[in-house]
Amino acid sequence: MSKFVLDMAGLYIHIPFCKQACYYCDFFFSTRQEQRTVLVKAISSEIALQKNYLNGEPLETIYLGGGTPSILSQEELDEILNAVYANFSIAESPEITLEGNPDDLTKEKLDYLFSVGINRLSVGIQSFDNAVLKSLNRAHDNRMARGCIDDAKNAGFKNISVDLIYAIPGRSNDDWENDINKTIALSPQHISSYSLTIEEKTVFGKWTKQGKMKPIDDDLAASQLALLIDILEGANYEQYEVSNFSQPSFQSRHNSNYWKNKIYLGVGPSAHSYDGASRQYNLSNNSLYLRSIQQEKVPSTMEVLSREDKINEYLLTSLRTSWGADLKILREQYSWDIINENWDYVQILQSKGLIAIEDNILRLTRQGRFLADKIASDLFVT
Ligand code: SF4
Repeated sequence: MSKFVLDMAGLYIHIPFCKQACYYCDFFFSTRQEQRTVLVKAISSEIALQKNYLNGEPLETIYLGGGTPSILSQEELDEILNAVYANFSIAESPEITLEGNPDDLTKEKLDYLFSVGINRLSVGIQSFDNAVLKSLNRAHDNRMARGCIDDAKNAGFKNISVDLIYAIPGRSNDDWENDINKTIALSPQHISSYSLTIEEKTVFGKWTKQGKMKPIDDDLAASQLALLIDILEGANYEQYEVSNFSQPSFQSRHNSNYWKNKIYLGVGPSAHSYDGASRQYNLSNNSLYLRSIQQEKVPSTMEVLSREDKINEYLLTSLRTSWGADLKILREQYSWDIINENWDYVQILQSKGLIAIEDNILRLTRQGRFLADKIASDLFVT
């Protein structure tokens, strides 16, 4: 196992159900609820089957994602949480996140979630414009979005994240600014914001292929990201990862641990796990997953990571973060020295003001963050 895997670990639980399919989404989920209860039982069984995967490391973070975990009933959530507590030790002050949509997060559900120890909510709001929400086929409206954040605070939640989408065709920078300001007015501790990408197997992908929809151009998308950074930084949010902003000390511990190369277990259909040396990928098919778990077998494939994979993954994730890539780690763990590998390119990036190196840490500048993935892939080892 790699030396820079630190103590403590994360658990990701994938709930593959949604009320309806958002037109842009290519995550793994089903809108057919008939299998839900039996699949929850299977996920609970997988938690028990995988109890040794993390070598006894206590769970520092637990993340229920999806899909839409807030769709689960209290009994279903109890079953999953009980399986976690029965099979893993939990670190002191764990971060326990649940992703939810405003249409599910009623006052009663929020009170229940808080009472069972969920201490971080990640709410899929995406926009406060009802016409936009409808065009994305979201199941909530602006009133529900604002109401659920107020209700969550009243229920006791002190760590709330809001998801927003920019670069939506037909939206101007003024429209986008309006969404950002409405978000800030709710003062969530954390904001994640991703550019709309048109994925082939989605409704938007189909419309784009048929010529009924056109993605916005890259410059407009970049100007919306710039607007987001300017407004959020002015409101005391730090951009600690290209798409993630937080008030001081409210970075997502779970996601930060992925980016810091810590080990994690993912359970449920389509979930991934990482033990420091290899990745496991669970099957993305509810029925086959169910059948396999009923035979006490986790349906996954394994990929052993090569030295090159590890270097490239480290570059790709760390360069997106404010803590940057530690060149000492790359030298000592992987015998990869940037001076021998890509120094000419690094000097070009420095002269263009896209990166800065200080105390062995390579960080992207504000300007460089707009090109994070391109810069990382240019540095990749092949
Ligand atoms: S965006 Fe969220 S709620 Fe919408 S289909 Fe995807 S996973 Fe489900």
